[in-house]
Amino acid sequence: MAETKYIFVTGGVSSSLGKGIIAASLAKLLQARGYKTTIQKLDPYINVDPGTLNPYEHGECYVTEDGAETDLDLGHYERFLNVNTSQANNVTTGRIYQSVIEKERRGEFLGKTVQVVPHITNEIKERIQLLGKNHEYDIVITEIGGTVGDIESLPYIEAVRQLKWELGDDNALVIHLTLVPFLSAAGELKTKPTQHSVKTLMESGIKADILVCRTEHELSDDIRRKLALFCNVKQEAVIQSIDASTIYDVPNMMLEEGLDTVTLKKLALPDDSSPNLTQWNEFLKRHKNPKHEVTIGLIGKYVELQDSYKSILEAFIHAGAANEVKVNIESIHSEFINDTTIKNKISHLDGVLVAPGFGERGVEGKIDAVRFAREQKIPFLGICLGMQMAVIEFARNVLKLKNANSTEMDASTPHPVIDLMEEQKEITHLGGTMRLGSWKCELKEGSIAEEVYGNKTISERHRHRYEYNNKYAEQLESQGMLSTGINPDTKLVEIVEVPEHPWFVGVQYHPEYKSTVASPHPLFVAFVKAAKEYSKQQKNATLAQ
Ligand code: GLN
Repeated sequence: MAETKYIFVTGGVSSSLGKGIIAASLAKLLQARGYKTTIQKLDPYINVDPGTLNPYEHGECYVTEDGAETDLDLGHYERFLNVNTSQANNVTTGRIYQSVIEKERRGEFLGKTVQVVPHITNEIKERIQLLGKNHEYDIVITEIGGTVGDIESLPYIEAVRQLKWELGDDNALVIHLTLVPFLSAAGELKTKPTQHSVKTLMESGIKADILVCRTEHELSDDIRRKLALFCNVKQEAVIQSIDASTIYDVPNMMLEEGLDTVTLKKLALPDDSSPNLTQWNEFLKRHKNPKHEVTIGLIGKYVELQDSYKSILEAFIHAGAANEVKVNIESIHSEFINDTTIKNKISHLDGVLVAPGFGERGVEGKIDAVRFAREQKIPFLGICLGMQMAVIEFARNVLKLKNANSTEMDASTPHPVIDLMEEQKEITHLGGTMRLGSWKCELKEGSIAEEVYGNKTISERHRHRYEYNNKYAEQLESQGMLSTGINPDTKLVEIVEVPEHPWFVGVQYHPEYKSTVASPHPLFVAFVKAAKEYSKQQKNATLAQ
């Protein structure tokens, strides 16, 4: 079998240029040509994984099937490629050092002095090549987090330099993503920052093979020629990445710029078929030509930062396209929801989503939002903490269990309807110790869940410590909150529904992680459909008045 080829994506000039989207778009094009491709992200921070990071720091923590808590770029990879990633696809400096230090403690270095070069760089090289080891992939794309020149990126850049040399020119290439800013006072695009950033890379011994230039304006032939000449690349390897109205346009934009063809040429791979993007373009067509519009409230406490709920927002885009509906998301800060503001904030919505989260801040507003949606019969989806809030709301307002709560928020609540699992009570370390990854769930006949999934058994990804307390199951069920999804092994309740309401679903897991362009998540698709029907009813009701 042919050797796996490696593509490294580095970034220069500025952060947030969208390396993840470029990597995912190139991977999409290569996949659409029949190459088995995967993407890996190397993050230069010292946290072992982003699981312990506040969403304000680094956006959402994305969870894979195998329960790895990873960078949100892995979400883009899965959404673009429709292929699962795993722990091996996200490596941080913390994880690299942890593993090297463990080896040192075990005496594996046989008395040698353990150093950044070669021990840390070797560990990085091993992690990169792990994905190519079993020849499962034709191409592995490795995105190096951070910006070249950063102190913390140095070991990664050195590892890439060594690997490129070891693998040879036909088997490895470097794509450098930079910014070509537009100076409005001069009315010009400026190439100097890119030149400097390519030079910085060169100082570390790496010559960029392809330049992808983020820009707000078209790059003229002159600019392309200049960039090619001063940055030492062929002109066809200067790729423009102009601001897009949606990230899902980027694969087609990269196709037009020929990013896939230069890549294949450089890697000496055949370029004899054109990429099959039929399904992708079908999705884009539906996304861009909606026939209806709905407004859904996203009730959370990290709403200031869009990246905190990345997968939820993307899942709505997939589900919107599936329904030919434009989904407007109104982010509503749960801390500002109370008796006086609630009507104003929620009554006009066609759907209410109460988001996942941790800690006490803003939970009372979430509970108020659930109540409003339940009583006014607005379609409701509660995810993880959102589902827990739905149970608390029902316990307080229907079962009349005063001060019912989760022990996460109130350790001495008289009615712990959401409580820690026994296994979780012993845990002292916070990293990687939640209920994580994929778990099975059996669906009750006749439930919304069963209808939506069209299946009796499903598996979904989790990330939480607290659970529905089965001691209250009988009371909740008898008053109208049904448990419609149960973990067959642990008997934990994973889904609740209120059949008296037209569409009220709370899920303990995170459906958003599994929604992709090729396979929009059924629960989001059904929720958007319910919102669409609700909005039509509301319009008809207004007309009838
Ligand atoms: N804080 C809750 C728990 O740990 C919910 C977590 C979440 O929403 N992801 O159980």
